[in-house]
Amino acid sequence: MSVPMLVSRASEPHRPDTIVRVGEQVTFGGDSVVLIAGPCSVEGRAMLLDVAHRVRAAGATMLRGGAFKPRTSPYAFQGLGRRALELLAEAREATGLPVVTEVLDVRTLPLIVRHADLLQVGARNMQNFALLAELGRVKKPVLLKRGMSATVAELLMAAEYVMANGNGQVILCERGIRTFETATRNTLDIGAIPVLKRETHLPVIVDPSHSTGKNEYIESVSRAAIAAGADGLIIEVHPHPDEALSDGAQSLKPEAFAEAVGNIKRVAAAVGRK
Ligand code: PEP
Ligand code: MN
Repeated sequence: MSVPMLVSRASEPHRPDTIVRVGEQVTFGGDSVVLIAGPCSVEGRAMLLDVAHRVRAAGATMLRGGAFKPRTSPYAFQGLGRRALELLAEAREATGLPVVTEVLDVRTLPLIVRHADLLQVGARNMQNFALLAELGRVKKPVLLKRGMSATVAELLMAAEYVMANGNGQVILCERGIRTFETATRNTLDIGAIPVLKRETHLPVIVDPSHSTGKNEYIESVSRAAIAAGADGLIIEVHPHPDEALSDGAQSLKPEAFAEAVGNIKRVAAAVGRK
């Protein structure tokens, strides 16, 4: 017996693109390309407010910042937790940018729902089915990142968990997968963008930071992602990448981000996006 998939474009004939609204102004899946930018981790008040103002000035329409961090080592910086959520809310007040932050587990979900506009599920949690089901019961949109060894079909099934539990506001994110290649941190699966756009009506964005792991490749990969049909980008920006508490090597300085945005916009215009 085959069950009709909520995530699938084919579940109804010609099911049109789903538009996911975040905050008052931002929409994923329409004509506009959404630019999310900010630090990997929220490290402090001055730094977050500084980055938030600078990415907004450069054209970002949403702010990112990790509060609860999924680190490979238990001795690495784990995030400022609740304090980071309060700072993200303050940065939203100061700039008007809606905020996205990662939900690591079900216990902190209610706290994060109270502070964030978009709830990120990280690559390492893509198949945390208890978390996905719980996200189906909240009234905030979800940004679901592809697991580092997940197929497109598994990503779609993970989105189905959220939708089947009642939340249809899901955005998918290609963030690179693990391959034999070591020149980049992960391998961006550029082909997954048109595959996902064909298979599902959900918006699809790309994370050039985690897929390359190196700031010098972020602009070219971003341009390729938009040319291939991505609905947005999520990019790590840090005022002092050398001193970042996480992911410094893949973080752009605000001025480099501003320059990249100009070039990304030209590609967006060339493919009929705003
Ligand atoms: C992040 O966005 O900082 C992050 C941890 O991403 P991913 O889950 O894709 O590794
Ligand atoms: Mn990161």
